[in-house]
Amino acid sequence: MRLVIYILFFFGTTAVAGASNLLNLPDELTQGGFYVGKVAPKTMLYFKDKKIKISQDGHFAVGLSWDEGRMVKFRLVNFQGTEILQRFVVKKQKYDVQHIDGLPGKMVTPPKEVQERIKQDSALVKKARRIDSDRLDFTTTFIWPVRGRISGNFGNHRILNGIAKSPHGGMDIAAPKGTMIVAPLGGVVTLVSDLYYTGNSVIIDHGYGISTVYAHLDKVLVKEGQNIGQGDKIGTVGATGRATGPHLHWGLNWYDERLNPALVLPKALP
Ligand SMILES: [Zn+2]
Repeated sequence: MRLVIYILFFFGTTAVAGASNLLNLPDELTQGGFYVGKVAPKTMLYFKDKKIKISQDGHFAVGLSWDEGRMVKFRLVNFQGTEILQRFVVKKQKYDVQHIDGLPGKMVTPPKEVQERIKQDSALVKKARRIDSDRLDFTTTFIWPVRGRISGNFGNHRILNGIAKSPHGGMDIAAPKGTMIVAPLGGVVTLVSDLYYTGNSVIIDHGYGISTVYAHLDKVLVKEGQNIGQGDKIGTVGATGRATGPHLHWGLNWYDERLNPALVLPKALP
């Protein structure tokens, strides 16, 4: 009798999903990928011990790290309290790694006088990225924010004098100064600021921890707190901050996790 109960307990409450994908995510995920999934109403969902926010109709957003391991695991608790584990294979992405040695120290570490400013900048950006609103803009399809040539890929990183610098947190789209940048999704503007590294910068919240970043703008055409629709003008391409030429640095985040914007765009340029 006891054995039967144990068996029921095992199969009844914890199942490793094979064929059935209760999250409505692709069967194979990708490093740096952004996904919108859907679960049955009243499901609780956990990823990396974090409870994931679920909309009334079951939608949720999730993002994988640029260097995510081979497998990710989600834990679902359905409306009956039954716990189900779902595992997904993660496809590796190839990134360019550039080693540069023999650089003068000040090229590797920013000068003392700007370190305080960089710290303040990063606190502002962090605060904007942690906004956890109930907007559902993230469930719609992205459009390109600007017409141009991709000049820098997500995840590329440099190792300067043996010190690994953080990977490129977005994609660079080169375009002439003054080229219009539009919102790839609707949202609310949560940051407009002139930052040391990224110059004139804008952050837009799209709900459920999904935000996008626009850097090195020449002109900014939005204000903090402003609601914008998909395709609305945000600003123009520039080279403000630390930029070698006019381009849009475009970032996509899921809370603190930087994601690969190239994976969410329609393949062809507008
Ligand atoms: Zn960039």
